[in-house]
Amino acid sequence: MIKSKADIMVFENAQKQLEKAKKHVKLAQETEETLKYPTETFSFSIPVRMDDGTLKVFEGHRVRYNDARGPTKGGIRYHPGVTIDEVKALSFWMVIKCAVINIPYGGGKGGITVDPQKLSKGELERLSRGWMRKAYRIVGPDRDIPAPDVYTTGQIMAWMMDEYSIITGTYSPAVITGKPLSLGGSLGREYATALGGYYCIKEAAGKVNPGKTVAIQGFGNAGSHMVRLLAADGYKIIAVSDSKGGAHLEAGFEYEKLISVKKREKHVDAYPGCNKITQEQLLELDCDILILAALENQVTKDNAARVKAKMIVELANGPTTPEADDILYQKGIFLVPDILANSGGVCVSYFEWVQNKQGYYWKEDDVNAKLHEKMVEEFNATFDIHKNRKIDMRTAAYVLALGRIDEATKAKALY
Ligand code: NAD
Repeated sequence: MIKSKADIMVFENAQKQLEKAKKHVKLAQETEETLKYPTETFSFSIPVRMDDGTLKVFEGHRVRYNDARGPTKGGIRYHPGVTIDEVKALSFWMVIKCAVINIPYGGGKGGITVDPQKLSKGELERLSRGWMRKAYRIVGPDRDIPAPDVYTTGQIMAWMMDEYSIITGTYSPAVITGKPLSLGGSLGREYATALGGYYCIKEAAGKVNPGKTVAIQGFGNAGSHMVRLLAADGYKIIAVSDSKGGAHLEAGFEYEKLISVKKREKHVDAYPGCNKITQEQLLELDCDILILAALENQVTKDNAARVKAKMIVELANGPTTPEADDILYQKGIFLVPDILANSGGVCVSYFEWVQNKQGYYWKEDDVNAKLHEKMVEEFNATFDIHKNRKIDMRTAAYVLALGRIDEATKAKALY
């Protein structure tokens, strides 16, 4: 799981990426100025009656960073390390991500400073409903739409949606996304992050032709669905890792077998016949595609020169540092950045919101076809900027996003 403090570092990296991109795009003064500050920050206490009868107060937050392009959108994180500064940092990132994938949203984020694993189900429900009893003043279907993030689930979204509906006296599924299907969730949402990344790989294949052997760091929600999609498409998964370590098998892993090993033994390196490898070895393996689907700051200035993959796909947020970006670009490694590669998740969250507002629900194939259309369009828009301006794909994605934010900010002609 993600360590919250490291996300602050990720934010510093995002600021460096932003500065680099600003050399390639001319922003209006008002865009530069408004992007420096969150539009609204809200911290509050949440009193919760615990199972033993005592009352405990938790700290809750919601930040709406920038709403130039539409209502703010972003997850709610439950973690002991959550602070208002971290929430602010992550909300800024959502502004960029929503603009890259061109969904009509700004960026926001929320959180509670808590270790949810120490709570009973009842306590977790009271805490989650308590968050909404305070945050209803800042969120809303046309204002700010939360979603799951670290340690928050579809069940938590369901409690929060129900609480908001009780407070407002209206059934309001569009106030939050990532809900269970029975309460207005969308088909395809569960694996949308991996599917969006997979569509990027398919688009890139026709342009940079990397080949079909794959190493993948992380076998959680995003990573395991990516293995499923690639294996079914004839890619050879030669290495995989989780928090316990890595596994290498030149003949390639079978998805079903890998899933059952992970379920039974809890770690992927128990796969029969594989060689155990370290995380470092996995990152430096001789393969065509390296997929980063675990943690931030994995490819750094210390190991970037030793990466042998022809292409890197970032399903995780912030797995490559700005210094490593430069080294990889000089080595000619093609990198699909997080703000594009993992944006399938927020894109299908947007589709969930649209379906809630329509009160009409789409078939799974329709959701996936619409996601495909979005990913192809924005992948190619980013690729064209990368080629035409001779800049790396991450900087190109920032240039694309900043241009869209700038246009909306200027069109509003603030004050
Ligand atoms: P997850 O908790 O389901 O899985 C994380 C995986 O990383 C697990 O397999 C875990 O064992 C592994 N891991 C942890 N520490 C590791 C280490 N030191 N080395 C190698 N592997 C390690 O999380 P997820 O939802 O799959 O998210 C993974 C990444 O993708 C995160 O950065 C997350 O922010 C990002 N992301 C996920 C989504 C989504 O929809 N799930 C959307 C956008 C971004």
